[in-house]
Formats: sequence, C-alpha cells, structure tokens
Amino acid sequence: MNEELKALAEFFPPEKPLYAVGGCVRDELLGRKVYDVDLTSACLQEQAECFAERAGMRVSLGSKRLGTVIIKGKGSYEYTPFRVDSYPAGSGVHKPSSVRFTADIREDARRRDFTVNALYKNIKTGETVDLLGGVSDLKNRLLRAVDDPMRVLGEDGLRIMRLYRFVSVLGFDAEEGTAHAAREKSPLLYDIAPERIRVELDKLLAGEHVGAALRGLVNCGAMAVILPEFCENIGVKQNERFHKFTVDEHIIKTVEYAPEGVRLAALLHDIAKGRCVKEEGNMYRHADAGARMAEEIMTRLRYPKAEIKRVTRLVALHMTDMRGDMRESKLRRFVADNADIIDDLTSLIIADAKATCGEDMVDMDKCLRIARLRDRMKAEGIPFSVGELAVSGKDVMAFGYRGKQVGKVLEELFTLTLQGEKVNERQTLLSVLNKRKNND
Ligand code: ATP
Ligand code: MG
Repeated sequence: MNEELKALAEFFPPEKPLYAVGGCVRDELLGRKVYDVDLTSACLQEQAECFAERAGMRVSLGSKRLGTVIIKGKGSYEYTPFRVDSYPAGSGVHKPSSVRFTADIREDARRRDFTVNALYKNIKTGETVDLLGGVSDLKNRLLRAVDDPMRVLGEDGLRIMRLYRFVSVLGFDAEEGTAHAAREKSPLLYDIAPERIRVELDKLLAGEHVGAALRGLVNCGAMAVILPEFCENIGVKQNERFHKFTVDEHIIKTVEYAPEGVRLAALLHDIAKGRCVKEEGNMYRHADAGARMAEEIMTRLRYPKAEIKRVTRLVALHMTDMRGDMRESKLRRFVADNADIIDDLTSLIIADAKATCGEDMVDMDKCLRIARLRDRMKAEGIPFSVGELAVSGKDVMAFGYRGKQVGKVLEELFTLTLQGEKVNERQTLLSVLNKRKNND
C-alpha cells in the first residue's frame, strides 16, 4: 500500500485499524493492476472524516445512509464503515432496504458477494485478513458466494452479473453451488436498473475470458433476462459450406476475437439472424434488421446516443464487400462516408471471419481491402468530404453559381477527386470550374 494510506492508517486507533478491502486486495494478491482502493474499518463516518483531515487529506461526504466518505490525497479513496445490509425479501433490487453499522469485521465480510472480494488488508501491518477462505479460493481460481449462495445471489440480482464479470476478467470459475444459485436466481435481474446492467455488461465484455462469461450468462438464464434477443439465435444452424458453428456460438466466438472497443458490436452483429430465419426463412437482411434490433437493445440498456449510433452502424455495415468484389468506385464512396469507423469495421470483419471458418482460414487480403483502400486514398491526398476540397463555396460562387447550385457543383468536384479523376489542388479544380462554366 502506498505511503499516504500508511500515514492515514496511523490516525486510526489500534483496536479499530484501517483496512483496504475488496477488489484492490484481490487484485494485488493476484499481481494484477489495482485501479481503485476501497477502505473500511470499525470507525464511523465522522471519525474517519476527522482522521483523514488530520492526515492532511481532503474529505467529502458520500452517502450518509451507507456512511461513505470520499478521501482525497494523491489518490482518491472510498471509505465505508463495517456494515450489515438488509434487503427486502423476494426482490432482487440492488439497493439495501436498511443498513446497520457494526464493529465486527466478520459481519462486514458476509454482506459482500464473493469470498475473493471479502479479503481485507490491514494497511498498517500489511497483514491479509481472510475470514471466509478467500485466499484459498483465489488460489483455486473460484468465485464462491460469501455465505449460502441462494441468500447471497437472492438478495441482489446484480451479483449474478458481477459473478460473470469476474469470470470474464479474472478467468475464474463459478463454484458449483454459486453457479447453481445463479441459475435459480437469474429472474431477479428483472429488478435491476438497466444502466447498472449496462455497466456490468461493458466490464464483462472487456474481460479476457469473455467467451466463458457469455456462455455462463446463457446457461444460468441471465442472458434471457438482459438480452433475450441473443437467445433467439441459440441452436440456429447456418449454411455449413461457410459456417462451422450455430449462430449463438458464432456470435460468442466473434466477441472473443474482437478487440475491446468492438465487442458490443460483435455481440450484436448477427443478433437478427434467428429472427430473420423464423420470419423470412433466410438471413439475407440480417444486417439491417440487426442494426434496428441493436438500436432497440442499446436504448433499453441506456447506452449513450453516440455509442448507439456507432454500434448500429457497425452492425448495419458488417457485411460490406463480403465477397471482396465490390466496385472500387463504390468502395471509395463507402470509405469517405464511413471514414470514422473503418478501423472498427475492419476489426469486426476480421473477427467475424475468424469465427466463421476458423482462425487459420481467413482471407486477410479480403478483410483488409477497405482499410487498405482508405490508407491509399489518404496517402494520395484524396478528400473524404466536401469540406476537405481545395476550393470552397466562395470559389464556386465566384463563377456565378448561386443557391443550391453551389452545393451541387461542390458535390461534382468532390466526386471527381474522390474517384481520382482529378487531383485535389486548387488550380486544377479552378480550371474544372472554368471549363464547366464555359459549357453551361
Ligand atoms: P472492480 O473495482 O474491479 O470493479 P471490485 O470487486 O472492487 O471490482 P467494487 O464495485 O469496486 O468491485 O466494490 C468493492 C467491493 O464491494 C467488492 O469487492 C465487494 O466486496 C463489495 N461489493 C460491491 N458490489 C457488491 C454487491 N452488489 N454485493 C455485494 N458486495 C458488493
Ligand atoms: Mg473496486
């Protein structure tokens, strides 16, 4: 632990020492990078605040109900006193109905989710406090509920998402009883706010073991709650000449092959296939139908508008130049219209291809055709929009054009340069304008 935390720990009384807890202790023991440090002790909010101030740190109050204090020095830390949470019976809402503070660290450990997240580190002594077998579960790479798993997962539906998020990020397995409880309790996810599910889904998608996590979500029934559309693809067969896998397995493999920023698009790229087969008897229109479904799903999960737009475009366009035979003129227009997403689209196309016919069978030249054309166009100084032309509307007006004509003439110049028929230089374009005027 760092020096400022050690200094802060000195202000806590010996019988109520300051601990780091949760993800930071887990990740440090695993040798992973630690992003945020959560702090706890038997001291209540006001005391912790007072100690932090004495240690020369800045303090702001978090939740009064949960007793949280935000402590800022060089780093920023969230302090919460030991507490016990109570949840309303039978519902999976994430928010406890009542909170009681306690001096007993064991009670605090039991309000947490998994044993590997219920490890404490005494900041002053450096000693790890393991009350529930977290260290052994860490060694065995197991996610085990801190207590009766039916109670733990039954109190807060979000814990099921957290379970598979940790499967994805840490590469651990869900311990059998815990996995069983996840299957029993997955309908509780209906009680969880969509934005919370989105946050967990994003973290899950970023994990290295995302395939196992997605299969876990499907198997426990959570997928049917958070993304029922995915389940429409389970077991749906595809033309075996091109595809080795059913649609659901193909989608999961695509996600595994996709880089982080493209994983949600990968998850949604073929989302409409099952529905298309059911309604139309084929998959021809799955990209457009998928884009509409992606928009609906992402809106429901409260994704930001710009992200919805980016992902739906990737889904809509993922079949572009599938056979690698699109006319170059058309492809040039495509590059200009979609310059902002060409890299992501290329990543998606490659992941899709790998997940279709196997990693070694991918025709990389075909997959890279769009990106290479984009690079070539850039190197040749070809404009990607009217705004990048070497002449402006003013120049066009100097030739006597007015109103809508100006835009039309600029568009013509753009097409000429885009297709490489004229270079994007002022003199060249002015002489095109001159010729055009004389022919009018
Ligand atoms: P990360 O910070 O990598 O997202 P984390 O395990 O630290 O993972 P946080 O959300 O920061 O997760 O929570 C800190 C600790 O609080 C957890 O390790 C866990 O002990 C406890 N915790 C968080 N959310 C829950 C929950 N929904 N139910 C029970 N305990 C929780
Ligand atoms: Mg954390």
